[in-house]
Amino acid sequence: MAIRTGKDYLQAIVEPRDIRIDGEKVTNVIEDPRFSGGAKTMAMIFDLQNREDLIDKMTYVEDGERYGLSHKMISTKDELEARKQMFKIWSDASCGTFGRSPDYMNVYLMAMAAAADQFGEYADNVRNYYKFVRDNDLSMTHTLVNPQVDRSKPVEQQDKDLAAKIIETNDQGIVIKGARMVSTLSAYADEILVVPSGIIQNNQEAFPYAFAFGIQADAPGVIHVSRPSVVHREAGHAMDYPMSGRFDETDAMIIFDNVLVPWERVFTHGDVTMCNEFYKRTNIGAHILDQSTIRSLAKAEFYRDLAFTITNSTNTDGFINVQNMMAELMTSVEIIRSVIVAAHAEAKTVNGIMSPNAAPYAALRLRYPDMYQRMCEIIRTVGAGGLVAVPSYAEFESDETKDFVEKYFQSANGDSRSRTKLFRLAYDASISSFSGRQQLYERYYSGDPVRAAAIMYNGSNKEPSYKRIWDFLEEYEKNA
Ligand SMILES: Cc1cc2nc3c(=O)[nH]c(=O)nc-3n(C[C@H](O)[C@H](O)[C@H](O)COP(=O)(O)OP(=O)(O)OC[C@H]3O[C@@H](n4cnc5c(N)ncnc54)[C@H](O)[C@@H]3O)c2cc1C
Repeated sequence: MAIRTGKDYLQAIVEPRDIRIDGEKVTNVIEDPRFSGGAKTMAMIFDLQNREDLIDKMTYVEDGERYGLSHKMISTKDELEARKQMFKIWSDASCGTFGRSPDYMNVYLMAMAAAADQFGEYADNVRNYYKFVRDNDLSMTHTLVNPQVDRSKPVEQQDKDLAAKIIETNDQGIVIKGARMVSTLSAYADEILVVPSGIIQNNQEAFPYAFAFGIQADAPGVIHVSRPSVVHREAGHAMDYPMSGRFDETDAMIIFDNVLVPWERVFTHGDVTMCNEFYKRTNIGAHILDQSTIRSLAKAEFYRDLAFTITNSTNTDGFINVQNMMAELMTSVEIIRSVIVAAHAEAKTVNGIMSPNAAPYAALRLRYPDMYQRMCEIIRTVGAGGLVAVPSYAEFESDETKDFVEKYFQSANGDSRSRTKLFRLAYDASISSFSGRQQLYERYYSGDPVRAAAIMYNGSNKEPSYKRIWDFLEEYEKNA
């Protein structure tokens, strides 16, 4: 069967890879406490597609073989709807916080493979790589962006030449040296897709920075320099950090230390036009935005439900200002849901694949970072001092403190234990370092929204707008 269970997945990623964190080298992410919670979440995600009640929603059968549904080259609107359900099930499993659950990259690669002809002599490499990932149900990360060294100059003009580039081409493949930021999930990925972003100048010096390839996350010379974990290893009790402990998907800078990429894994190199038109030619954006908007819905629903539960527990839900904030969360959910309906209603076939209309998704993408910040703010506002006036859950196991905490941490509608659990969840969702990283993720995970907004404006046809306004004034003047 080409779908993996959680056990299959864990057996695969237990293979040593080169992860650097906190001044240490970690090879086994399953045992290290900074990574083990996220690894378990990944395993849980893979298990979901094997569950008897979900298997037909999460997977599809082709030529007698079963594959994950996010790999499918969908051709009808019904299939697009079915894929939506699949995305939602995986997203709900992490309350929308695992931004790079494998479906994100699966649809990315699926769209690349559907547009394989665009890759010219490397078309078969793209097709074969897609089949390899699909058939083995692998998990992928990707890394697009050059390190933040000097944003005022094109990469080839930087005084400090640190970005990943081709330093050699030989009969075996291309050799890459240098770094790429950021790679979310790299600690849990089987494969890294190294793909273009931004504009590469069309000159000889820039050609070495123009490439796309796939490489094993544990290939020789691939070094993952991870940010410090948001897992609280000194926590008194696991219930103190119910999100950080399970949903840190990790981020790393990837350093390619003279990495040989075999020719069969090269998808383009030295072709600036292909790199600059990568997203336009492949229509990847429509599919990754489909996944991420459905994930954003799962997240918005979770924050709404959390806020409802907090305000119900302390009877603040009767106050009109609190009700207004609850309505604001409901509105966010409804806006996101409507955007998905619109994008699917206007879906059409691109490169042979049924593709949602990316325009409503692009609009939400610009609004969502602020919407999400506000969701966190509402949790902080309604939770108020209660978010810090809760003990560690470990106090319930302390003979000395147990009686006090059982008594003094109750709320109107809950005993001390349930209130402590609930408010620790709210703390983790809105204040903790996990929450801060989530807020940063939503702003930047698919590029800089400031430049995305400018691209949206600059790419629009403004002539009809100018004409309409001048026509209106002319008409008014005639009759004034
Ligand atoms: C949590 C997180 C996870 C991520 N995961 C991934 C991942 O898995 N894979 C991946 O490839 N990438 C990932 N990214 C990286 C993401 O793609 C980049 O952060 C994003 O493209 C913005 O680039 P930057 O961070 O280099 O910011 P910069 O480009 O350095 O921008 C920094 C600031 O300067 C401004 N600025 C910079 N240049 C310009 C300019 N030319 N014009 C106007 N303003 C400018 C920006 O508006 C911004 O305010 C992730 C990022 C985060 C924060």
